[in-house]
Amino acid sequence: CGIVGYIGSKDVKNILLNGLEKMEYRGYDSAGIGVRNEQEVKVFKEKGRIKDLTEKVDMDFASTAGIGHTRWATHGVPNVKNAHPHQSTDKRFTLVHNGVIENYEQIKGTYIPEVELVSSTDSEIIVEIIAKFAAEGMTTEEAFTKTLDLLHGSYAIGLLDEEEPEVIYSAKNKSPLLLGKGKGFNVITSDAIAMLKETNEFVELMDREIVLLKKDEIIIKDALGKEIKRESFIAEINE
Ligand code: GLU
Repeated sequence: CGIVGYIGSKDVKNILLNGLEKMEYRGYDSAGIGVRNEQEVKVFKEKGRIKDLTEKVDMDFASTAGIGHTRWATHGVPNVKNAHPHQSTDKRFTLVHNGVIENYEQIKGTYIPEVELVSSTDSEIIVEIIAKFAAEGMTTEEAFTKTLDLLHGSYAIGLLDEEEPEVIYSAKNKSPLLLGKGKGFNVITSDAIAMLKETNEFVELMDREIVLLKKDEIIIKDALGKEIKRESFIAEINE
């Protein structure tokens, strides 16, 4: 159970798959990645091992941004439908979530009663509510912030917006998440070890902050939208 994300100019598929493999020790029952190029997002997921997932990934799909997930099921059995990433019905948004949303049934009923969910997870409602707010005219940042305000529970989230190829949105609450800095790329990861091959320079993220992760820039904002500057640190871990 953990998430990874990468945005840069290198092809991202193997970086994500390697990262997920490095987190195998945390335990998981299924895994998936969502990768994108300038035009579209493609999702691959599988029950079982990362190597089973790897066999399903279309290695010809060149992509420079993506998110990945190892799942330890808390709501809904381990199967492909319940594996992450989850996509909104309109396919615009793609999301990975580590953690537990305690009030998911309640906010589903209040904000998206009409939506037919594909999975039995507590996570899918997050991406549907973001999509609903965006469809109503909010920017993605506004929709993401407003949705996070509704959630009770724990989360580390990575979010792709098909309309914004240059950014990965991210946030955490009571689940671990680090931002990793590189030259010409940046990453998110639940565990530094998953991204050590790419970088050992990390920035801490606090609960309820919002991140706009771009290839050459990491923007962190507090829950009120005010930008925060935070120094990075070097992780002294050996792979
Ligand atoms: N609660 C979510 C699910 O059951 C995420 C579990 C996890 O953190 O792996 O799908």
